[in-house]
Amino acid sequence: MKVFFDARQLGHAPTTYFRRGAAMPHQEQPQRAEILRDMLLANDFAITAPADNGLDPIKAVHNPDYVDFLPDAHARFVESAGPDALAIPTMHPGLRRGKEPKDIHGQLGWWMTDTSTPLTAGTWDAAYWSAQSAISAADAVAQDARASYALCRPPGHHAMRDCANGFCFFNNACIAAERLRKTYGKVALIDVDVHTGNGSLDILYARGDIFFVSLHPDPATYPTFYLGHADETGEGEGEGASLNILLEQGASQDDVLAALDRALEAIRGFGAEALVVSLGFDMAADDPLAAVQVYPEGFAEMARRLAALDLPTVLVQEGGYLGPSLADNARSFLTSFREATR
Ligand SMILES: [Zn+2]
Repeated sequence: MKVFFDARQLGHAPTTYFRRGAAMPHQEQPQRAEILRDMLLANDFAITAPADNGLDPIKAVHNPDYVDFLPDAHARFVESAGPDALAIPTMHPGLRRGKEPKDIHGQLGWWMTDTSTPLTAGTWDAAYWSAQSAISAADAVAQDARASYALCRPPGHHAMRDCANGFCFFNNACIAAERLRKTYGKVALIDVDVHTGNGSLDILYARGDIFFVSLHPDPATYPTFYLGHADETGEGEGEGASLNILLEQGASQDDVLAALDRALEAIRGFGAEALVVSLGFDMAADDPLAAVQVYPEGFAEMARRLAALDLPTVLVQEGGYLGPSLADNARSFLTSFREATR
């Protein structure tokens, strides 16, 4: 299995965001990637630095104006608000969005949905290289690798076509899926992070060539809210190509595996020729953001069932936070997937 990661992905260093009306320590820390990297090295995965494929593959799934806003946004914010202020939006457009303002504070609200994506000095490089890792992982599979893993951090599956959301800036999984479309006619993206792949749903909703399926608790009562309801099945050419499978909060490992089987059946029915997995480990029972109860053996079983699809597969890291079993869960999944795809 080819593995991609660039040390510049550690540069995004958010301290704080707001949740339930209070400032909270930010969960999406560089240490997550360090833990995963160290686990990979300890288990004989060779890590390759991604190639630089530039902005075109990112702009293929994101609004180019959003992409162009990000590189100097932190510097412009610091110039306006000072180095100690938190670079987050404090105002947002309504549904009649109007026009993008020129002021940095107005622009933050234009391009971000919430407070969870603070910009820091290293954010642009981190998000850029996280996306490049996903692109290189897709290219490896398109060439000859049976499977690849992009240690993407910051994660991506909440990022929508034209905004950052839920710790995410660029939708690495959609960027990988779009890249695979150069080689494969039909691609499936399955999201097994505990949260809705709301960004992926947004980007792929009218696409008939990329099937999207996500497992998550009911967005009526569980973040990130708004998108991911069972009746969202796609539109236009994408009608029938989106599938949201809802889990009970507190669902057991067996319940999750049964939901996974439903998703795999749908992917087979679609006739996918290649697969992208939005791979979160926050389905873990002891994850700080836990909502269901998956244990290391459950992650190994998920890996075996996904590998049994027998498709060229790109694994893209999403969530999974600083709980006690993060490394165990990742090792369990990735070594099982490697074993099953030798
Ligand atoms: Zn998540």
